[in-house]
Amino acid sequence: MKSTAGKNLHGLFPVRIRTRFVVWLTTTLFLVTCIVGVVCAEPTHQQPPEWQTVQMRVTAYCPCEQCCGEYSDGQTASGHNIQPGDAFVAADTQYPFGTEMVIEGYDNDQPVKVLDRGGAIKGNRLDVFFHTHQEALNWGVKYIDVKVQLAS
Ligand SMILES: [Zn+2]
Repeated sequence: MKSTAGKNLHGLFPVRIRTRFVVWLTTTLFLVTCIVGVVCAEPTHQQPPEWQTVQMRVTAYCPCEQCCGEYSDGQTASGHNIQPGDAFVAADTQYPFGTEMVIEGYDNDQPVKVLDRGGAIKGNRLDVFFHTHQEALNWGVKYIDVKVQLAS
């Protein structure tokens, strides 16, 4: 029994070498492809978004008639239906809908999207959205540095 097993192993030896070589070649090719792919793709794809800091006059509003008048229909100028917990901003038309902004003190300094417009919201003026009129009143008027994501 022992000698037969040894014979079988001996016969398999060249096959194992070949298998090892194939595995090594595959792994090497895979690694080379990965490295080349990462090195070559990095500068052209998946660039991190660039942010520009702009000093803005930031006021606040809510969906009430006092803030929105005849436009208090629960929908923003971009056609977004206002949901509970929403946080977004109204900005000048130079900032396309969907542009992300980080407004210090608003929504835990998380990036929020431009989803609305406003008659008085021109140039470097913003209106941040709150769900209640009292929250909007509490915000008041702030002159702050806003981080704006540049259109790519
Ligand atoms: Zn209001």
